[in-house]
Amino acid sequence: MGKVTGFMEFDRNQAPYRDAGKRLLDFQEIYTDHDEARLTTQGARCMDCGVPFCQSDDGCPIHNLIPEWNDLVYRDQWREALDRLHKTNNFPEFTGRVCPAPCEGACVLGITDPAVTIKNIEMAIIDRGFEEGWVKPNPPAQRTGKRIAVVGSGPAGLAAADQLNKAGHTVTVYERADRIGGLLMYGIPNMKLDKAEVVERRLNLLREEGVEFVANAHIGDGSDGTISGADLVNDFDAVLLATGATIPRDLPIPGRDLRGVHFAMEFLTANTKSLLDSGHADGAYISAKRQRRHRDRRRRYRHRLHRHLHAPRLQEPGELRAVSKTTGSSGPGQPLAHLAENFPDRLRAPGGRATVRQRPPGLCDLVHGVLR
Ligand SMILES: Cc1cc2nc3c(=O)[nH]c(=O)nc-3n(C[C@H](O)[C@H](O)[C@H](O)COP(=O)(O)OP(=O)(O)OC[C@H]3O[C@@H](n4cnc5c(N)ncnc54)[C@H](O)[C@@H]3O)c2cc1C
Ligand code: SF4
Repeated sequence: MGKVTGFMEFDRNQAPYRDAGKRLLDFQEIYTDHDEARLTTQGARCMDCGVPFCQSDDGCPIHNLIPEWNDLVYRDQWREALDRLHKTNNFPEFTGRVCPAPCEGACVLGITDPAVTIKNIEMAIIDRGFEEGWVKPNPPAQRTGKRIAVVGSGPAGLAAADQLNKAGHTVTVYERADRIGGLLMYGIPNMKLDKAEVVERRLNLLREEGVEFVANAHIGDGSDGTISGADLVNDFDAVLLATGATIPRDLPIPGRDLRGVHFAMEFLTANTKSLLDSGHADGAYISAKRQRRHRDRRRRYRHRLHRHLHAPRLQEPGELRAVSKTTGSSGPGQPLAHLAENFPDRLRAPGGRATVRQRPPGLCDLVHGVLR
C-alpha cells in the first residue's frame, strides 16, 4: 500500500484548475500541470483496502486496478503504474479527464475523510506515459485474417476496435459524422478534453496500429447516401454496432419551446465543430450573446404583458393600487399610501414606473397620470 499512515498524515489536495479569468479567454483545457510531489503524497493516502470499493461495481465501471497504481505512484514507479493502468483501460487519457469518478465516491477513505484523488493520479500517469514516450503504437504480432466492421466511433466503438485489433483482427470503423470520436469529439467540450492534443493523438495511435477509420459514412439501408448495413454483413466476418444513443430526451415543460433552449448535443456539436473548423470564424455556432439579446427582448415583452394584465385597480374608495416595475410585484400592486412613502426612490430607480388611475385625497400633488 501507499504509506501505512499516509491517510492519517495527509489531507486530500486536489489539483486546481487554471485560473478562471484566464480560462474564460480561450477554449483550451482547464487543467493545470501535474505536480509530482502532490501526486505522490496523494498516492500515499491510499489504504490499499482489503476490499477496495474504488474498483468494485459501486466504483470504477471498468475495474481499474486503483490501489495498485496508487501505490506505484507513491513509490515513484510511474512506468509500472502505466502498465497496470493499461491492463483495464484502453484510454486513460479520456477517463482521467472526463470520467465523473465514481471510484472517488466509493473510496473507503471517504467514510471518514475526503477520498483519495484517484482521477488526478490516473490522468497524471497516462500524461506522463505520453510525455516520456512510453505509449507507442503496438500492432499485433500476427493477423487472424478475420475482418470486422465497427459502426460508430464513440468510446464504445473505439475501445472495441482497439481490443479486436489487439487480438489480431482487421478492423474498420465507420462513422457518419465528419470526425471520428463520437461524443468524445462532439459531445464533450474542448476545455474538458482537447480534440487535437488528446483525442486525435489516440486516434493516430490506433491508425498506426492498423485500425482503419471511415468518416462521413452513415450506415443505413443503402438509400439517401447511406452505406447499406446488409453490404457490411456480407463483406465482413462480423459487424459490431456501437452507435450510441443519438436521440435526445425531450422535456415537455413550460418554456421548452422558447428560442434559445437547445438540446445539449445541438449546442456542443455546432460549437465544437465551428471551433475546430475555423476557430469560430465561420459563425456556425450557437452564441450565448445572441441568446441574451433574445432573452432581453422576451423579458421586455413579458413585463409589458404583465403590466397590461395587472393594470392597477381601485380596491376600495379612497385607496389606490399601483404596479411598480422596480419592486417586481406581480400582484395587483401595493396600496398607494405605502407607495407614496417610498415614491422618491421609485422615481429614481431606472425604469421605475407607477400608474395611478385616480387621485386620492391629499396625494394629488405627488402623483398623477403616469410617472417614469
Ligand atoms: C452532452 C453530453 C456530455 C457528456 N459528458 C460526459 C462526461 O463529461 N464524462 C463522461 O464520462 N461521460 C459523458 N457523457 C456520456 C458519454 O459521452 C457517453 O456515455 C458515451 O459517449 C457513449 O459512448 P458510445 O460510444 O456508446 O456512443 P457515442 O459517443 O454517442 O458514439 C456513437 C457514434 O456512432 C455514430 N453513429 C450512430 N449511428 C450511426 C450510423 N448509422 N452509421 C454510422 N455511425 C453512426 C454517431 O455519430 C456517434 O459518433 C456525456 C454525454 C452527453 C450527451
Ligand atoms: S477505496 Fe480508496 S483507500 Fe481503498 S484502495 Fe481504493 S482508493 Fe485506496
